[in-house]
Amino acid sequence: MCIGYTYDLVCGHQLIHFATRCPESCPIPSGPRKPLNDTCAPCTPSFQSTNIARKYDELRAKHMRAIRVAQADGDREAEAEITKLMAKDQAERTAEMAKVWDLRRKLRVAEGGQTVVWPGKNDEKETNGPEDLFRVWKECVNGRKRHSSYDSC
Ligand SMILES: [Zn+2]
Ligand SMILES: [Zn+2]
Repeated sequence: MCIGYTYDLVCGHQLIHFATRCPESCPIPSGPRKPLNDTCAPCTPSFQSTNIARKYDELRAKHMRAIRVAQADGDREAEAEITKLMAKDQAERTAEMAKVWDLRRKLRVAEGGQTVVWPGKNDEKETNGPEDLFRVWKECVNGRKRHSSYDSC
């Protein structure tokens, strides 16, 4: 049985710190499980919104080129089709952005405007969990540096 800490992040993914691994390499270690008011790296709101904007800007540019070609050809049907696609993209962009804003809001509420203190980052502020389990976790961080297993990110 693997031993370690599991943190449930606001984005729905997990941050896992393994202290010891067993031959089965369990996906979730045996040990304390706590919520942590942060996201994993790929789910960071600013990173996500940059990616969403880039993705849809590119799509839009592509559609605009296609519309110009359709207009030059006098192809009304194609033009209408592409216009429909653009409206659909716009709706998807808005929905994706809304999710990021929701995540941003959750983070802000959870943090109360404070910077997140990652467990073990500042020993004096560490108040998580029973002493012995924290010791195990610290050994993991200080020793083997095997952590940050992002589930399905
Ligand atoms: Zn195991
Ligand atoms: Zn995540």
